[in-house]
Amino acid sequence: MHETVAILVGAGRGERLGAGAPKAFVPLAGEPMLARAARALTASSAVHGLVAVVPAEKSEEARALLGSAGKLRGVAAGGARRQDSVQAGLALLGGAFDGVVLVHDAARPFVDTPLVEAVAAAAWRTGAAIPVLPLTDTVKRVSAGRVGGTVDRRELGAAQTPQGFRMEVLRRAYAAAFGDGVEVTDEAAAVERIGAPVEAVPGSPRNRKITGPDDLAWAEWALGAGGGDRVGTGFDVHRLVPGRPLMLGGVHVPHDRGLQGHSDGDCVIHALCDALLGAAAAGDMGQHFPSDDARWRDAPSLVFLERVVEVVAERGFAIGNVDLTVIAERPRLSAHAGAMREALGRALRQPAEAVSVKLKSADGLGALGAGEGIAAQAAVILKARRA
Ligand code: MG
Repeated sequence: MHETVAILVGAGRGERLGAGAPKAFVPLAGEPMLARAARALTASSAVHGLVAVVPAEKSEEARALLGSAGKLRGVAAGGARRQDSVQAGLALLGGAFDGVVLVHDAARPFVDTPLVEAVAAAAWRTGAAIPVLPLTDTVKRVSAGRVGGTVDRRELGAAQTPQGFRMEVLRRAYAAAFGDGVEVTDEAAAVERIGAPVEAVPGSPRNRKITGPDDLAWAEWALGAGGGDRVGTGFDVHRLVPGRPLMLGGVHVPHDRGLQGHSDGDCVIHALCDALLGAAAAGDMGQHFPSDDARWRDAPSLVFLERVVEVVAERGFAIGNVDLTVIAERPRLSAHAGAMREALGRALRQPAEAVSVKLKSADGLGALGAGEGIAAQAAVILKARRA
């Protein structure tokens, strides 16, 4: 039987959360983390069964919490080390099981179906797969309070769960780890030890591990007030110079001058990108597309927008609507607003109805009024996709 079964590990005591209960049983928006993680993990039809591993005294409570979901195969009592807990869960599947197991931390209740399915598919294909997130912080080697050097983060990644394995691969890996008396901090480490390949699939920033009180506060916020609509605003202005095509809102506008800039200078798209990044609290244009990066020289700004749309989606948001104001004395833009809405809508993967483009003059005032440049303002609403 080609079955995929999830092993949900919630055997920790969770002292760091200081909530007076084992971590997996700490409520998030009123629902124990274990139950939320189980629901997220088994939402996919690609997951056929679930085994939970919890502290022994919590077994009955776990059965009551998870039994109604329909996919529960059993509840095992956790052991001293992570690998003991996982081993207890695997034992419930029996020696004949030859499918894929997805080992997942109950402390990651925000996992979503696309990630679960990506890991499962890769594990079926290659034998072992884990989600990995690139590091965004600069990484230092530190010893006794002293920085010993900077590590090249491009070759580093943060491992998440679920970690997926064909059963025969994990059995061999665990037999070796237990036989050698080695403690591993995740299942992939045991597989790496036996030299079997582990595929890295892109992890998800939202699949955050709830470890300390700050994470718990974030999770409550994300499920409550932070899960509602999110507003973002953006502004950009560029100088008009001779010898460049004028690009505005992804559309070429015939004019004797164009906007100066490292890229194509499309200030409408730049303002829109900043508004989207702002609503997602994901930084700004300068961070994502540094102007000293040769890749972006004369780049069409629609490329930036398409990437920003991906960033927003990766963070679990859908675009509600965007509203843009272009402030230009010359040229007259009214004949181009419709084409801008369509071009932007395509890049946003939204109908033109989700995009508004308004045109304003600066009434002859200041530099914009003198036609020295063009400015744009953007406002957007993002909707959180709920777990
Ligand atoms: Mg700009």
